[in-house]
Amino acid sequence: MEKSTRQSNHGQRSFPKCHCGGQRDEAIHLEIKPADLPGISWLALIDSKRPFLMKTRFVTLFVLLLLPLAASLAAKTSDGRAKLVIIAGKPSHPPRMHEFNAGTQLLAKCLAQGAPQLKVEVVLNGWPKDESVFEGADAIVFYMDGGGKHEAVLEGGARLMKIQSWVTRGVGIGAMHYGVEVVANQAGEEFKSWIGGYYENAFSCNPIWEPSFTDFPKHAVTRGVKPFQIKDEWYFNMRFADKFSAEKASESAGVKFTPILVAKPSDAVRDGPYVAPKGPYPHIQAAKGKPEAMMWVVERLDGGRGMGFTGGHFHDNWANDNFRKVVLNTLVWLAKADVPANGIESKVTPADLEANLDPKNQPKKK
Ligand SMILES: [Zn+2]
Repeated sequence: MEKSTRQSNHGQRSFPKCHCGGQRDEAIHLEIKPADLPGISWLALIDSKRPFLMKTRFVTLFVLLLLPLAASLAAKTSDGRAKLVIIAGKPSHPPRMHEFNAGTQLLAKCLAQGAPQLKVEVVLNGWPKDESVFEGADAIVFYMDGGGKHEAVLEGGARLMKIQSWVTRGVGIGAMHYGVEVVANQAGEEFKSWIGGYYENAFSCNPIWEPSFTDFPKHAVTRGVKPFQIKDEWYFNMRFADKFSAEKASESAGVKFTPILVAKPSDAVRDGPYVAPKGPYPHIQAAKGKPEAMMWVVERLDGGRGMGFTGGHFHDNWANDNFRKVVLNTLVWLAKADVPANGIESKVTPADLEANLDPKNQPKKK
């Protein structure tokens, strides 16, 4: 999360919006296969940009324009593997935070180790300029900054319509960390229907805290996940679609909702401060004792699946085996590939955690 300025409550320093030394505009996508390990095969660097399609959202035009695109997106790759596309956002925060490019490549490497049944394509630095990467995708995940400039809402709604066309044919959609935040009147309804909910500014909150996850529902995405406790900027109090809550799995209008990572924030966590805005918000304080869902999944009426995961602020958290496994399992499940009985096994070394970090300026010491 970030606003015009950001207060880190772990370093007590203010960071301006971007410390990355300039965002890179190029979008890069790469496919990671088991045979490529430990190296990475860079497939394409394409500078052409799709023209702006349309700003208004008339249903008729929407259907006419998107049917051909939907038809071109054939499920499953030529080798029969399910295909997952993860889009990493542009650099934004200080080092080791919001390391979307490095985190996405780390997850792809882990999937190559533990989920060879899945073809994984990684898009770096935001929405791809060559959108052919989406062809044949079974699931598409956004690990990036969000809010009013969420990559999904840019181009005046054209991207939202593309995503809706994927959803209509059952493509899984996932959003991770700041990527779960959209502006209500920009994409709130879309995110509710695609993944079951979203982070709404000043309704949801974003403290840095250390929940303990001890009980997991019986679900493919929790296979092999053992209790764990970890500090992250775990957002909670999502704006869920009607009737969905952290309390229990539920079904509404044919959509199945399952909370996956659930914990009760302490009273002190609810009292703040949150990262931004600092709060506290009276409605968050008034809900003391209530469980919250920091990760959830949905099974939609269109046959597709959705996922929201609010952690992922600190890059080094990917070293935690259970934190990583529940995400890896979910990425596999989202694309409708099989999750083994013990979940996706992977190893992360200290060198893996240092790999692919974006060049960022070190925060100044006081
Ligand atoms: Zn964050």
